[in-house]
Amino acid sequence: MAIFTANQQKIANKIDSSSELSNWRDWKWHLKHSIKTIDKFEELTGIKFPEDEKKQLEETQGKFPLSITPYYLSLIKKENFRKDPVYKQSFLDNKELNVTQYEMGDPLSEDTDSPVPGITHRYPDRVLFHVSNVCAMYCRHCTRKRKVGDTDFVPGKSQVEIGLDYIRQTPQVRDVLLSGGDPFLLSDDYLDWILTELRKIDHVEVIRIGTRTPVVLPYRITDDLVNMLKKHHPVWINTHFNHPREITSSSKEALRKLADAGIPLGNQSVLLADLNDCPRIMKDLVHKLVANRVRPYYLYQCDLSEGLSHFRTPVGKGIEIIESLIGHTSGFAVPTYVIDAPGGGGKIPVMPNYIISWSTNRVILRNYEGVITSYKEPDHYEATTCDRNCDECNLELDLREGYEENAIGIEKLLSDYDQAISLVPSDNERFQRRDDNGQE
Ligand SMILES: *Cc1c(COP(=O)(O)O)cnc(C)c1O
Repeated sequence: MAIFTANQQKIANKIDSSSELSNWRDWKWHLKHSIKTIDKFEELTGIKFPEDEKKQLEETQGKFPLSITPYYLSLIKKENFRKDPVYKQSFLDNKELNVTQYEMGDPLSEDTDSPVPGITHRYPDRVLFHVSNVCAMYCRHCTRKRKVGDTDFVPGKSQVEIGLDYIRQTPQVRDVLLSGGDPFLLSDDYLDWILTELRKIDHVEVIRIGTRTPVVLPYRITDDLVNMLKKHHPVWINTHFNHPREITSSSKEALRKLADAGIPLGNQSVLLADLNDCPRIMKDLVHKLVANRVRPYYLYQCDLSEGLSHFRTPVGKGIEIIESLIGHTSGFAVPTYVIDAPGGGGKIPVMPNYIISWSTNRVILRNYEGVITSYKEPDHYEATTCDRNCDECNLELDLREGYEENAIGIEKLLSDYDQAISLVPSDNERFQRRDDNGQE
């Protein structure tokens, strides 16, 4: 059972002197009383900014708006607040106005890779479906910062239908990732309708939901919500904890309800400078996550979105963190560290190197302790040439029912059934000369 801490009681009373525990545990109450001004923030936390700083903060807010749930605000520790990870993720920082030349409004080209409004189709078999433009809290490190607070609206059914239609007509899509905004800011009924429509599509095998409500608004995870979600299995959920301080009795309760409903839980963290860029903090976080049945899924390198430069770390910091996890703790507690490629190339895993060298029959490896070892390759491995004729194959894999895609990328170069021997950028001058000369 979640506790109402003294600080939460104080904040609730300042917002509305008649507030009780039942209000505090009502997610709609939190949305109604979200902190959207600097004055309100000062009033509720007792923090007071110097006048000149406050003027600048107002300017920052003019560009990137503010919204914090009373719950998340209650986790800020007033003493030493400037170092506080909850404060830093939720409250304005004047450094947000420093836009560097490397930063972009839409670094991941989500808008360009959008075949119809609301859908980003980047990978062959799965799509991102933006079903909500609303968030419970505006994370300062949001990769979609360009859109934050623009138009807090819930797309109507006719708009969602456009995305549903695209999915219905695209049989490759077997995995639909509901995102936003935060899909859990939709009403239970509306979300139920979207899930029901998706479930009617035969080729949609898996539905995923990305939500930060367990972190910033854990009371959203009600019994009614999980009972509704349960009807649409398999449903997977990814949430977004960045710091062990966010794991509270209330967030644990939310995670327990979701896990008890049979929903596999994952977590996507963002590596943030001066906030969680520390092997000890990350190890503590992943341990707390797995103790609450959440599998660390991705650790993201901070994107090149506008106004995030003060949050960015070198890539080496992420490698160092992963180095401190692999082998040192449970395998399932280690997330995959990824850089979401600017320009829309998708997530690229970047992990420490474990292969030191290679010969025709030996691989030289090193382990997490620095022990160097050699692995002898098999003397007799009969490579089967795959021409994708599964009827003739010794392996028992009946793919006739499955959707067969053409190989792309490195997979294509590795395959036997495709004749390609190199991948060439479309503007390669050498190859253009060949074309001009009429050669192949
Ligand atoms: C992250 C992402 C996905 C899902 O990627 P997974 O690696 O399968 O989790 C799908 N589409 C887009 C556009 C994404 O950014």
